Amino acid sequence: MKMTEEFILRSNYMDRSTIFIIDDNVLIDYQTSSPLLPFGETTNKLNLKIESFYVDHSILFVRCHISLQMKKILNTGFQILNAKSFLNSINNEETQGILLRAIHWAVWDSRLQYCSKCGSKIPHILHTFEKKCPHCNHSFFPKLSPAVMVLIQRENEILLGRSAHFKPGVYSVLAGFIDIGETAELAVHREVKEEAGIEITELEYFGSQSWPFPDSFMLAFKAKYLRGKIKIDKEELEDARWFNAKNLPDIPPSPSISHQLIRSFILNRAL
Ligand SMILES: [Zn+2]
Repeated sequence: MKMTEEFILRSNYMDRSTIFIIDDNVLIDYQTSSPLLPFGETTNKLNLKIESFYVDHSILFVRCHISLQMKKILNTGFQILNAKSFLNSINNEETQGILLRAIHWAVWDSRLQYCSKCGSKIPHILHTFEKKCPHCNHSFFPKLSPAVMVLIQRENEILLGRSAHFKPGVYSVLAGFIDIGETAELAVHREVKEEAGIEITELEYFGSQSWPFPDSFMLAFKAKYLRGKIKIDKEELEDARWFNAKNLPDIPPSPSISHQLIRSFILNRAL
C-alpha cells in the first residue's frame, strides 16, 4: 500500500472498529472471540502489513499480512481462525452480517488487482464497491453469481441431498446456479428435474443471502412435490432422500440460508 494511503488510514481511523482479513482467515480477540478490533492498537501490537482497506459505514475492513508466529500472536492476545469456520461458529446475526460482507469484499479485492481489459494495476478504493482502471477507465464491481435453492415438501417429509464435497453426514436442500437468460423460477424447476428427477409445484419465495464462498447470491424458495421418482444426477449429488422432521440428518450450519430454510420446516411441524 502507498505511504499516502497508510497515512490517511493512520490519521483518520486509529480507533475505528476493524475486521482484519488475512488470506482466508480472520483475526479475533482471544479472550472475547470478537472479530471487531481497534485498528491502531491491533496493527501496532501485531505489526500488521496492510494490503488494502475499505470503509464500510462505521466499520473498517482491512486485508493484511502478518509475519508473527502463531504462538506470539496468541501471547499478544489474538487468534487467527479460518473465516468460514469462524462464521459458522458465531450466533450474533449482526456480527455474522458484517463478517460476511468483510469476507466478500476481501475475496473480491484480493482477486481484482489488474484491469482485465488493459492490464493496468488498479488502485484500491475507500468508500465504494467500484474499482476503476486509471488507464482505460473501465469499472469493476464485486462479482455475484445468482443461484437458487429450494426446500421441497411432500406431505410431512422434505427432500434433501448431499454432494460429495459436503462434510460426512451433512444433507441440504437442492441448489444450483441460474443460467444466462433464465428466470430464478425456471432455474428451480430445471435444477430439481436435473438433479433429482422430480417435478414440483406451488413455488414460493422464502428469502435471499449473499454468500462469499465463493461469490453466490442465493435466492431461496419453498415448493411442493408434484410427481416423479427420485433419480439423482451422479455428477451433482451422491444421495437424495425424503426425510421427516424426526429423522433429519446433519444440516448446514446456522448462518447459511439453507439452514434457515430447513429450520422453517421443523418449526412449522412443531406448531
Ligand atoms: Zn484498464
